[in-house]
Amino acid sequence: MPLDKKVEAAKRLKRSYELTGQKPKGVDANLIKEYEEWIEPGKKPPPEHYVEVAGLPDKAKEGLAHALKEAVEFGRNTGRECLIHIDARTGEKVYATIEGEKDQVIISSTLRDFLSRAEERSIIQVHNHPRSSSFSDADIIVTMAHESISHIVVIGHDGTRYIFSRGNGQKPDQREISLQWLKLRDKYYNQFAQEVIAGRMTEEQAWKEHSHLIMQDLAEMYGWEYRRVMPNEI
Ligand SMILES: [Zn+2]
Repeated sequence: MPLDKKVEAAKRLKRSYELTGQKPKGVDANLIKEYEEWIEPGKKPPPEHYVEVAGLPDKAKEGLAHALKEAVEFGRNTGRECLIHIDARTGEKVYATIEGEKDQVIISSTLRDFLSRAEERSIIQVHNHPRSSSFSDADIIVTMAHESISHIVVIGHDGTRYIFSRGNGQKPDQREISLQWLKLRDKYYNQFAQEVIAGRMTEEQAWKEHSHLIMQDLAEMYGWEYRRVMPNEI
């Protein structure tokens, strides 16, 4: 269900409780709570692809939703990836969109310079993943290499979003990140291969879950902030 419909439904639910004078309980209470801030009178529903990211100003979160929309629309139209950079305070675009290939975007030396000169934790980097999987080891390495990147956010072509920030976590070197990422990939390989062979998952579904597990484990290991938000959730 699209987000605005969900907010509408939550609004109606809240109203029905108000009319009976009862306090919402259980599932209803949770649903109302989840969409509470969008239910307030006069508040317009969140933009498509909006995600709640702790610590970001409202403007940045709105800008992020727009960047995610641009990235996923580019991806769905071309089958390729693109890379967008926005200001972590204002949500405004700070660098022209970079069009990439089917499964990567080449980071030019100009972009590298830009990222090294920008203020610490001042930029959110956004890109799309055609197969809707989580971050690659290369994605994490790029983030670690630039103190200016506060978050990276990926949107899958199915609308799933992944949010990553080092936060106060560790900063292992490139070699270690790749090594641990590969180790975890191997650890779960058989589990997902069996699902695919048995026909319970498509290869794409398996890789979506597999890559998410890798990231969950890595985030726990190094104290990073990592979250997956399913389509139409915030
Ligand atoms: Zn990526």
